Amino acid sequence: MGMRMYTYLGPYLQCTNGYATYTTNVLACINPDCNRLHKKVEEDVRFCPICGKAPETWAKPSKRSKVSPYDVFEDALSVVFQVSDRPDKIDILVPNQRRPEEPARLKDSHREKEGFTAITPEDIAGETAWFGKAYAEEVDKARSAYGEAHVSIGWGLVQYIS
Ligand SMILES: [Zn+2]
Repeated sequence: MGMRMYTYLGPYLQCTNGYATYTTNVLACINPDCNRLHKKVEEDVRFCPICGKAPETWAKPSKRSKVSPYDVFEDALSVVFQVSDRPDKIDILVPNQRRPEEPARLKDSHREKEGFTAITPEDIAGETAWFGKAYAEEVDKARSAYGEAHVSIGWGLVQYIS
């Protein structure tokens, strides 16, 4: 149990997400000179404990992902990564299962054996094409949810905590 770092090398789905803003109403002090400005108070609080003014309903701005990847994809693809520290939030998805003939590259990132694995442009092209076919349904779902231009199939190294 617990969190573990995983390393994946192969085809993945990249979806550019983005943020939508919304507001939620909270009861808060709205006195701009008070150091409890916009701090939420309980429903039964009639006066701000700092400035003594009556709290009012305030539309608290928040943001959330435009698309919830967990609602779009079911079991076939796993959402492993959400790059959130940039304005165009990116979701990265990898297959939940290995394909039978998949090379066991990086299968065990903790192994302490020497070795090397050559990766050719043909490997990458072949695996990318395979991914597009095997996950055609998920790619279609992604295009509907994120928009055609925001979905692409990549091939590379994905490191993620799960
Ligand atoms: Zn106050």
